[in-house]
Amino acid sequence: MDSGVTAMETILVLLHTESDGALARSALETLGLARTLGMPFSVGLAGADVKAAADSIAACGATRFLGVAGVEFAQSRYGTDAAAAEALARAADATVILGPATSRWNRVMPGVAHRLGGRADTHATGVGLAEGKLRVTRWYYRQRMEAVIERTHRPWAILVEGGCGEALTGAAGTASVDMIAVDAHSRTEVEGLQSPKTGQQTIRPDADLLFVTGAGWSKNQADGKPRVEEAEKLILGFLDATQASLGSSKSLVDLSGEGQAVLGFLTHLNQIGQTGATPRHRKGLATCCHGEEPHVVGWRFVTERRAVNLDANCGWARGKADVVYVADAFEVMAQVNALLP
Ligand SMILES: Cc1cc2nc3c(=O)[nH]c(=O)nc-3n(C[C@H](O)[C@H](O)[C@H](O)COP(=O)(O)OP(=O)(O)OC[C@H]3O[C@@H](n4cnc5c(N)ncnc54)[C@H](O)[C@@H]3O)c2cc1C
Repeated sequence: MDSGVTAMETILVLLHTESDGALARSALETLGLARTLGMPFSVGLAGADVKAAADSIAACGATRFLGVAGVEFAQSRYGTDAAAAEALARAADATVILGPATSRWNRVMPGVAHRLGGRADTHATGVGLAEGKLRVTRWYYRQRMEAVIERTHRPWAILVEGGCGEALTGAAGTASVDMIAVDAHSRTEVEGLQSPKTGQQTIRPDADLLFVTGAGWSKNQADGKPRVEEAEKLILGFLDATQASLGSSKSLVDLSGEGQAVLGFLTHLNQIGQTGATPRHRKGLATCCHGEEPHVVGWRFVTERRAVNLDANCGWARGKADVVYVADAFEVMAQVNALLP
């Protein structure tokens, strides 16, 4: 860790547009965070066309908008993304570059920092000012230890995880963007995109709700038999209607991995917990999941927690959830789905 400095920073909020030309929520969260620093900042935008994105945040308080646009910046690609980010950072003469920790920026910003003679920190969960110094918080060792980092070295690129702050809202207007010409050729031509069919992609970091399934969905029920097909329909029906993100306990994804007749759409990527993911959805609903400690540690950042379990003595009921419904999740979810539009 370097010791910090008190000098005024030149902050650039570095953003890229999405395929529809808009800004993702994580970009708006980074902007919201930049505003909390109480220092002037400029905004750098990269994408196929950045005008609509700039207009959507015209009143965010930025002193200046810079843009790099063109068809070659539409796709995520190391060479073109790095060239755009470097040009924007140089044009802004930035000492601090704040960006969302998207897969796109995570991939290029360490390299861009190197080109600028700077340093980069990824997976930041907070950026603030204390004693006149810029301080970044970040978790280590699978979210067990939180560190506070200061650096004297500039420029300093900081990529902030999604879900760590309030997204900027209501800042639309007309922005004047200083466009920067960047000569970025690529030998790679993108001919098209293949993505999972709707319904197969169940991990949605931007969703309001994390819906967690546990092994109970695959277990023998009151009639002595498992009801896996019905479970699939109830879970997928709920996900379709709410666009919630799907998480799971380890037991259930392990069963899927062993080829048992369980929910076919689950993979280890859905696993929440000590050996799984630690998502940042504001709300979580656990169903048929016992709420064992190695699972619940993955809920560290989920602040509003509810669980449906037949067992009034389950882990959730022992201070790990705000509300526990002691009920049959099959019945509860059938009724919830019936109420959803
Ligand atoms: C080193 C280590 C690391 C681990 N890492 C993880 C991890 O990252 N993530 C993780 O999840 N686990 C992890 N585990 C495993 C963890 O300890 C638990 O074994 C696991 O979370 C249990 O999964 P479960 O709650 O789905 O299943 P179970 O413990 O089998 O619970 C099933 C629950 O479903 C309920 N139920 C059944 N039918 C219904 C119904 N119709 N309606 C409502 N409720 C019903 C039951 O009452 C029960 O509470 C780890 C364990 C170890 C030792």
